[in-house]
Parts: sequence; C-alpha cells; structure tokens
Amino acid sequence: MFDLLNLPGVKPVDLHYGNRVITVIAEVIEGPIPSCQECGGPLHRHGRRTNIFADTPMQMQPVRLEISRPRYRCITCSKISTPDLLFLDERRRATKRLVDAVRQRCLGMTFHALAEQTGVAVNTIKNIAQDLIVELERTVRYETPVIMGIDELMLAGDYRCMITNLATNNVFEMLEFRTQDYLKPFFQNLPDKERVEWVYSDMWRPFKRSFSEYLPNAKLVIDKFHVVKMASEALDDERKKFESTLSKNDRVHIKKSIRWLTLKRPGNLTPAEKSALEVVRQSIPELGVAYDFKEMFFRIYDDPVKESAMRAFEAWENSLPDKELEKFHSLVKTVHNHYDDIFAYWDSPSQITNAYTECLNGLIKMSNRIGRGYSYEIIRAKTLYAKEARKVGSGIRLLPGAETPVPSKSASETVEYGPHIPTLIEMAETGKMD
Ligand SMILES: [Zn+2]
Repeated sequence: MFDLLNLPGVKPVDLHYGNRVITVIAEVIEGPIPSCQECGGPLHRHGRRTNIFADTPMQMQPVRLEISRPRYRCITCSKISTPDLLFLDERRRATKRLVDAVRQRCLGMTFHALAEQTGVAVNTIKNIAQDLIVELERTVRYETPVIMGIDELMLAGDYRCMITNLATNNVFEMLEFRTQDYLKPFFQNLPDKERVEWVYSDMWRPFKRSFSEYLPNAKLVIDKFHVVKMASEALDDERKKFESTLSKNDRVHIKKSIRWLTLKRPGNLTPAEKSALEVVRQSIPELGVAYDFKEMFFRIYDDPVKESAMRAFEAWENSLPDKELEKFHSLVKTVHNHYDDIFAYWDSPSQITNAYTECLNGLIKMSNRIGRGYSYEIIRAKTLYAKEARKVGSGIRLLPGAETPVPSKSASETVEYGPHIPTLIEMAETGKMD
C-alpha cells in the first residue's frame, strides 16, 4: 500500500471511510527485537497492543490512526514494553504533527471548530492552548513603549486594563483588572522602565500612585478625550432635564438633534444639523446656553499655548451661572482635582491625542466583535499573541515629533511592539478572533 502516512516506523495496511472520519490502520515496521530498557535482558514477544490516535486531517476529514504495536516481555525482569514511536504524543492521544497543527491554529479559531476539523476533543485542544499560552508568556517580549496608554476595556465580562503603545498603535499588555494589585507588579517588573516618557490615561486617581514610583521619567497626561467627554455628557444631562417638559414628538426631535450637538463640532455640522441647532436654540434657550458652554470648553483645547488655555479655562469657569448647569460645575471640580495632569496635555507631543483616541476607539470596536464564551485568559492570548497582528506590528506608525523608539537590544534582534491594533480590528471583524 502506498505510504500515505509518511510517519517513520509504521506503514499503513488498511483504510476505512466512516461517518465523517477516515480511519487508517497502521502497523509497526518490525526490525530485530530490542533488549530490555530496564535491565538490558532479552525480550520475548508478548502479544500486540492497538491504540487509537488522532492525526492531521485528510480530504478535509478528521483522521483516526489505529496503530498496532508488538508487546515484549523481558525474560529477566518481567517488565512489559512496547516500542516507542517518536511521532506520537501519547498523553494527548494524537500525533505530534497534529498537536503542532492545533498549536498553530488554536488562538486563531474557535476550539469547537478546530475540534470538528481535527477530531481532537475540545478539552484536549484547550489543554494544548493552555500549554502554548504558558510558553508564549515565557518567551514573547514586546518593546517597552515610550508613549504608553492605559485604559479600561470591557472584555470577557469585566473591565480589563489595556496597556498600549501610542507611538506605534500596538497593544503592549493586558491585565486582568485595573487595580493596584495588578498594576503595581506590572510596573515593578516592567523592563526598561526608564524608556517610558509619557503615560496617557483617564482620571482614575489610584493609577497615579501605582506608577509614579516605578517609572522615573514618565509624566502623566489625562487625555483630552476623557476631559471633553465630560463636557458632552454635561450637555446631554441638560438635554434630559428639558426632555420631560416636551411633547413626545418634540422629545424625539430634540433628542436626535442633541446627539449631533454633543458629538459634533460646529464646523462639522451639515446644513440640516445647523438648522436643527437653531430650532433647539429658539424652543429651549437654556439648552442653547448649555451648548455654548460645551463649545467654549472644547475651544480651550484648540488653544496651542498652555498659559492662555489655562486662562481660558478660568474665564469659562467664572462665566458659569451659579446653581445652574450642575454637571458643568462638576466638570470644573474634576479639572481642579486633576489640574496639573490635565494641563500636562499642552506639554506632551501634540499629535498623540489623535493617536490615543484612535487607539481607544479601535480597542472598543475590537472588544465588541471579539468571540464570546471565552475565558479572560484565552481572550488575552488571542489578542496579545495574535500571529497575524504581530507580523505587521513593528513600528508601523511613528508619529512626527515622537521620539523614534531605539531598540534597546542589539540591532540583530527583531524588536516587536505587540499586536497592531488596526489588524486586530480587522481580524475581529472577519471572525478571526472567534
Ligand atoms: Zn528487563
């Protein structure tokens, strides 16, 4: 029979086509009888033993390999043995080449689909994936970012901590939770700590305490994204207050208009949206006022000079009416509570804020599309070690003005920055993260 197996030491002797599975019967090619591995004594034949192993699919069907091996009994020590077949993974009940194929694919498709394709039990695939993750954990290293983003992201049923490289648009690390218990060890064990120059984040205060003692050269910036979002939310809060006073019809109309007004800058409004704004202004002047406060707040960020931006904020604060626009007053409080970190924005590389927003929106997009039903650990591995995304991950985007990341290792070593976020999104959208 033609050797369709191409496995050393065995030959196929028969073939069955069964119910969506191909069974290959194989026999060990027998040579001279070896001697006992325990004591070196002479061996005698002692019947045969047949075991079933899964092998790589043929004709798009799972393959079962039925291998019949001779058994030997030692005359001196009575130990019973079977010849070793090096291509087998006895523990997994599969050929090593199949285990290897599963390793290659297990983070890129669902375990169930892979189980169906290969005939390997789902649990075995899970175990292979676990082993692979342990190995990746130990061997894969990404270059410490010069400009780091730290955010929360809903993944696998909870808020996870995402650490990104904003200069290259890569995911650098993912922590199970954003708490001191997770962040402190992360910063403590971070290699090349001195590389980090900027850390972009939201207003989560405990975070500052967890990194400041570990990153000697890093400055915290609360990104514009999180600050102006509060102004939009404050405007939306006013909208809700007025909604109860409106007729149902008006309510729908105003709600729709307000969405444009909170999300878009005036320059981006279409003519139709502009006239909707006028309608809002005329029917609810108080809402028009709130809108203007939101716009004035946004314009603080348009000011390229830190000192005049600070003055603009002061003027904005002073012009807020007392006892009205409650959420705008809480925005004032927040800005004062984080004053230095919010205004540090003007000292930081100015292009980064767009990168930051892009990065954060990308991650949110990805998290909405990522496969359900996986544990956090698997989702983390599927993201952080996504082969396809890592391939394109080396310094794809260097921002003008941002310091060129100089490899800290020798030049011959490839530097990896982590999975590239746009590729991750693409993978999630095309089902490759399922
Ligand atoms: Zn023996």
